[in-house]
Amino acid sequence: MSGFSRQLGGLLDLLLQAQCPLCQRVATATFCQDCQRQVQRCQFPSPNWCQQEQLPIFAWGRYNGALRQTIAAFKYENKPHLARPLAHWLALAWFSATPTTSLTVVPIPMHPTKQQQRGFNQADLLAEHFCEQTRLPLQKQGLSRSRETTAQFQLSAGDREQNLADAFSLGDAFRKRHPTNSVLLLDDIYTTGATARSAAQTLRRNGIRVQGLIVLARAEREVRDKEC
Ligand SMILES: [Zn+2]
Repeated sequence: MSGFSRQLGGLLDLLLQAQCPLCQRVATATFCQDCQRQVQRCQFPSPNWCQQEQLPIFAWGRYNGALRQTIAAFKYENKPHLARPLAHWLALAWFSATPTTSLTVVPIPMHPTKQQQRGFNQADLLAEHFCEQTRLPLQKQGLSRSRETTAQFQLSAGDREQNLADAFSLGDAFRKRHPTNSVLLLDDIYTTGATARSAAQTLRRNGIRVQGLIVLARAEREVRDKEC
């Protein structure tokens, strides 16, 4: 091999190496070692169920710092491949805390127009990988988003509830046949909980049991933490 070919090969190797999504340095895994440590530092010491306004929540970590940055890169910088390691960590926490097998996983749907703009629904991707690892059955057509809602962050807590009332309806699969076991809702983040409560209400109103919601990250608030 000539020196030029070797140089070209080396350059190609470099270009083909993945970039860390947080610091843009070359990384041999999804994240560089430093950033992976930073993301993993956001994990709760022992993730477990936490009761929040009639809906038990299981969260892997805190919605801030490197985890928040990772979720933003995943959703807004078109990095769907981040679903795999994130779902893997979520599944490991699930196994160590509550490896229930009789649950059907239902990702929180996005409105079709918004999903078309983004190109994917982050909750669907996380749920696919999570179910691959946990072997829990996945039902992506359990719920459908019936109404476009105003971006939640622009609204006060009271307005968010109103904004999400009847935002969901039963999806094709559950309209045809209800699941025989309870539903585990799955989403990327839990902030005010309005979206999750609205989704859970839709299922419960139709006689479908909801075990709770599993998320990668939960925003912490003083009052909420005291309840957990
Ligand atoms: Zn990095």
